[in-house]
Amino acid sequence: AYVITSACRDEKAAECVEVCPVDCIHEGEDMYYIDPDVCIDCGACESVCPVQAIFYEEELPEEEKIYLEKARKFFSGD
Ligand code: SF4
Repeated sequence: AYVITSACRDEKAAECVEVCPVDCIHEGEDMYYIDPDVCIDCGACESVCPVQAIFYEEELPEEEKIYLEKARKFFSGD
């Protein structure tokens, strides 16, 4: 799955929401989240993000790995 990271916080440009073919990008309080169970790894969101906040999970910088957990929590409703 692709993952939205810290650069999205308080940015929320939302270009990604419109290009996602499976509508798996949802708005959170201070950033957007990708549902990792629904994402089909197309990469469309990554290329339109104006702040380069989106990474493929295996390419996440070390300090951004926590955002995959955050996304899982967000969609599990915790
Ligand atoms: Fe949606 Fe594709 Fe981005 Fe996954 S990689 S969140 S399917 S636009």
